Amino acid sequence: MVESDGKNRLGALPDCIEMTETEPGFTTEINRRSGVNVDLCWQCKTCSGGCPFAESMDYHPNQIIRLVQLGVKNAALSSSSIWICVGCHTCSTACPQAIDMAAVMDALRQTAITEGAAIAEPHIHDFHKEVVNSIHRYGRTHKLEIMLRYNLARRNPFADFNLGLRMLQKRKLDLLPSKVRRMPDIRKLFKKKKAASHAG
Ligand code: SF4
Ligand code: SF4
Repeated sequence: MVESDGKNRLGALPDCIEMTETEPGFTTEINRRSGVNVDLCWQCKTCSGGCPFAESMDYHPNQIIRLVQLGVKNAALSSSSIWICVGCHTCSTACPQAIDMAAVMDALRQTAITEGAAIAEPHIHDFHKEVVNSIHRYGRTHKLEIMLRYNLARRNPFADFNLGLRMLQKRKLDLLPSKVRRMPDIRKLFKKKKAASHAG
């Protein structure tokens, strides 16, 4: 339910959800991708109570699980929650039913991308891509380059300039990237992942 101040509280699904929009097979697909059985969720909301980002999400973590249980595909794939989740696993470790919520969020992000769903938080998606590209290039992240590429793509090269400067002064950022020794293994992982995505 959406409260009078417009904010979505822990609890029932917002009234705007059309239950006619359910898609058979969506629950099975997310279960398969995440390795989780979402039907085990009993809606205790422990996950949402402990999530550090729940208040910034359009659907709280327990509501995301509910959407998946009911097969409300469009709402789940186009939600901001799946991009705001940082995969910290706080919810997964606290769940009394051992539901790996972080894996469900990951499966939803993957499905949103492969199915061309509207990405609710395109900047976050772009940032994810820069992080993955950095790992592909070096086997680890080069944070300075990620920030620069991300800001350039947004035509805002000097965003976070002061923050970057402070991080450099505190030696929290490396000026130059360095590669891990076993780059061929990293490339193999990326190839394997690509082949798996094409397979299904
Ligand atoms: S903590 Fe687990 S069982 Fe409780 S609502 Fe969240 S996913 Fe469901
Ligand atoms: S993994 Fe995502 S949903 Fe779970 S607590 Fe962390 S941010 Fe919230």
